[in-house]
Amino acid sequence: ERVDLVELAMAAAEGFHAGRPEHPLSFDSQVDSLRLDADPMRLRQVLDNLLTNAAVHTEPGTAVALRVRTEPDWAVVEVADAGPGISEQAQARVFDRFYRVDDSRTRGSGGTGLGLSVVHSLVAAHGGTVSLTSRPGDTVFTVRLPSASLVGGSPQVDS
Ligand code: ATP
Ligand code: MG
Repeated sequence: ERVDLVELAMAAAEGFHAGRPEHPLSFDSQVDSLRLDADPMRLRQVLDNLLTNAAVHTEPGTAVALRVRTEPDWAVVEVADAGPGISEQAQARVFDRFYRVDDSRTRGSGGTGLGLSVVHSLVAAHGGTVSLTSRPGDTVFTVRLPSASLVGGSPQVDS
């Protein structure tokens, strides 16, 4: 199915704005349109999971960023937050099923620890990858979808 990643990300940003009004969201895209062959509901689920995590782990009023860009072989979408971050030991495990960082901050917050494992599976099902970099104040989840899935085979820059 043909999906415009920019449109999909904008819709996710709007959903976030409605559901998490206490967090300003900045949306930024390098391109006006990025059409790929993908499952729109699943990609939306990926973005919603990452955006929800970003909101849950940051103070109200702290901005969350959603960015779309391209690399030579990938369509890239990133979710960044300025929260406390994820320790290096935990970074290796956050995509595992049921894994949750056990600290005072998250112990009471009631997630299942499945969100990121689902993100990982859904992205892999599209032939893509998800990775993260994190230090206090700067956590970025990066989803890469193969350029092979781009309609026309290369980034479409509409102007
Ligand atoms: P669920 O998504 O199933 O409701 P969850 O959010 O706890 O539960 P995941 O989304 O898989 O589970 O995340 C796993 C763990 O990774 C979280 O419990 C949290 O400790 C940590 N984590 C995920 N995203 C962030 C983030 N943006 N900042 C800090 N920690 C994070
Ligand atoms: Mg989650």
